[in-house]
Amino acid sequence: MRPVEVENLSHAYGDRNVLAAVSFGINEGEIFSFLGPNGSGKTTLFKILATLIPLERGDVTLFGHNLARESGQVRKHIGVVFQHPSLDVKLTVAENLRHHGHLYGLWGGDLKHRIQEVLNQQQLTDRAADLVETLSGGLRRRAELAKTLLHQPKLLLLDEPSAGLDPIARRKFLESLDNLRETAGVTVILTTHILDEAETCDRVGILNVGELVAVGTPDELKSRISGDIVIVDSPAPNQLAPKISRQFGYRVATDDDVLRVECDRGHEFVRDVVAAFPSEIRSARFGKPTLEDVFIRLTGRNFHS
Ligand code: ADP
Repeated sequence: MRPVEVENLSHAYGDRNVLAAVSFGINEGEIFSFLGPNGSGKTTLFKILATLIPLERGDVTLFGHNLARESGQVRKHIGVVFQHPSLDVKLTVAENLRHHGHLYGLWGGDLKHRIQEVLNQQQLTDRAADLVETLSGGLRRRAELAKTLLHQPKLLLLDEPSAGLDPIARRKFLESLDNLRETAGVTVILTTHILDEAETCDRVGILNVGELVAVGTPDELKSRISGDIVIVDSPAPNQLAPKISRQFGYRVATDDDVLRVECDRGHEFVRDVVAAFPSEIRSARFGKPTLEDVFIRLTGRNFHS
């Protein structure tokens, strides 16, 4: 049995359905991300798995424990990192860890040992005596993670863990998750609306207004789009889109100020489209499909709208 099994999970706030019969399973030791634009239901799903809001409909089993009936047991196995930091910035990193350890019943030598271990894991040993308010955003995130790891959870749940981090801090944070999976065998579920972040995960579940529309490795998902993607930058994308699909017969999506055209031979199409509409195109370039293209294909919606 996989460590996380979810069957037909639905949730509504009042009469508004925000998760519709979501089903998935997570394998041991994998890093899984739920990718979706704002409002797609990621945080609600995260809160249900983290036992922060009750399960309304569906069956969820975490490490063999039923989420609805055995939430106390479930909590022992999970570590939760919230979108909003939960560290006390007026305390040092070590003080934060000590207080959190006490909450989990850790004291004395055991606690000291665990604190050293998690500081070491997160490469924070030399910052243990620093006030949290003096740390950069990236280091705070890692201190947060260290705190969450004190009670040795088998599953980490993280809600938008790298929101607000710059790309380098984000990469380091994701590397530390990878390292944890390698060294401690931790399974990770995170939510994200950052496409690059989802790309680095083992598998991705794409959420769109409460529905899980696809699950797979980033490569599997991208292989659903057979050809190339050409990005056309135009001063009038909405006028140009129908002209391109009429003339070339390709699927065209508008995304912010650019058009994304799914076509067979991208390099030839770049040449042909610029020749056909020279005054309506600022630039055209082609590349391989991204998870954004997969989202657009599956939902017919723009990811950033
Ligand atoms: P995401 O994390 O993908 O942005 P959320 O789970 O936060 O999605 O929200 C999904 C939908 O549920 C949104 O339409 C949001 O406005 C709504 N929603 C979230 N929390 C509440 C709440 N406490 N009460 C009512 N509606 C909510």
